[in-house]
Amino acid sequence: MSIAASTRTERLAAAMGPVQRMVESRAFARRGSPGVADFMVGNPQEMPLPGLVDVLQRNVQPQDKNWFAYKLNEPEARVPVARSLTRLTGLDWDPEDVFMTNAGFGALTVTLRAITEPGDEVLYLSPPWFFYELLIAGADAVPVALKLEPPAFDLDVDAIAAAITPRTRAIIVNSPHNPSGRVYPLEALSRLALVLQDASRRNGRTVHLIADEPYRRIVFDGIRYHSAAEVYSGTIVTYSYGKVLLAPGQRLGYVALPPTSPERPALRSAIELFQWATGYAFADALMQHSVAELEDVSIDIGQMQARRDRLVGGLRQMGYETTNPEGTFYVLVRTPIEDDLAFAERLAEEHDVLVLPGTVVELPGWVRVSLTASDEMVEQALPGFERALAQTR
Ligand code: PMP
Repeated sequence: MSIAASTRTERLAAAMGPVQRMVESRAFARRGSPGVADFMVGNPQEMPLPGLVDVLQRNVQPQDKNWFAYKLNEPEARVPVARSLTRLTGLDWDPEDVFMTNAGFGALTVTLRAITEPGDEVLYLSPPWFFYELLIAGADAVPVALKLEPPAFDLDVDAIAAAITPRTRAIIVNSPHNPSGRVYPLEALSRLALVLQDASRRNGRTVHLIADEPYRRIVFDGIRYHSAAEVYSGTIVTYSYGKVLLAPGQRLGYVALPPTSPERPALRSAIELFQWATGYAFADALMQHSVAELEDVSIDIGQMQARRDRLVGGLRQMGYETTNPEGTFYVLVRTPIEDDLAFAERLAEEHDVLVLPGTVVELPGWVRVSLTASDEMVEQALPGFERALAQTR
């Protein structure tokens, strides 16, 4: 007899399996211990940005009696977001098409539920951010993984075209891509747009592109970021401020519909409906008061790029194969033994270095190293990586 609370719980627990195993690992339990270099997840390892603290302190002061009243999609937040999307894409975004959510999780949840019927298929790129499967299954839709081939992790538009069925309702394209660090060029997005237009016509309903872009402002080497919204009217943008502010515990993000979308009236109602139906998935009052000012606050991208260069350079010199991310704050490292779980465990136990086993993100044989670690942690970890590599030779 099953002890799960319901069949839905069982289904969702299966989608959570790899994450659950990470959370229960000995390495995970060592996070925050003294002397440990923590590259496991995108959590800050240093004090918060002073610019962020200033904005929050200023906006915590009530200016009227409704300061902390229930908040919906507030104009004071929607207007600066629409302005910033207009600057980014050259399209004229309407504040009414911006929905302020409890960060990226909330944005994806309401989007998936607003557009899918039970049994609809949602494609996602694999290796993925490790909660896509859970969020898709949570909407009673069917997650379908599309493999990106290492080491380039290019968008394979032909493979996407081949994976589309009459039940396909959306594809989640995360760029800059966690964990590969790829920033997909406008040319590839344009080819994908043609495929999706074609499929929408065939299916008799839009195959949406969910452009999950929380790392949009974290790009290196002068690369210009392009949103799929620039080339495909069926795009729905999801965003989180947790990355650029490196404050993922302050929940703030949004869903946005491009002005080119012919379905905006229906989508507006559906998204707002699911903000209610998923348990009030609106950004909280303090964060909405702060959005306009937070648009100008960011972690130091130059410093992040220097840290990438130091880590990638150091690891490659030792003989490791790594990605060289164009964006995001993740580096992938191919493990010198096949078993990435064992290698990550050894790095943690014997060398005090915590990394994410690739198995957790559908990428066995690799580990993910998060650049949100401090520079000191990088210097401390490099000899540990070197010793771990030597042990395998
Ligand atoms: N999408 C991607 C690709 C992510 O990496 C993350 C966070 N790691 C999210 C969405 C969710 O963002 P948040 O935790 O700020 O809700």
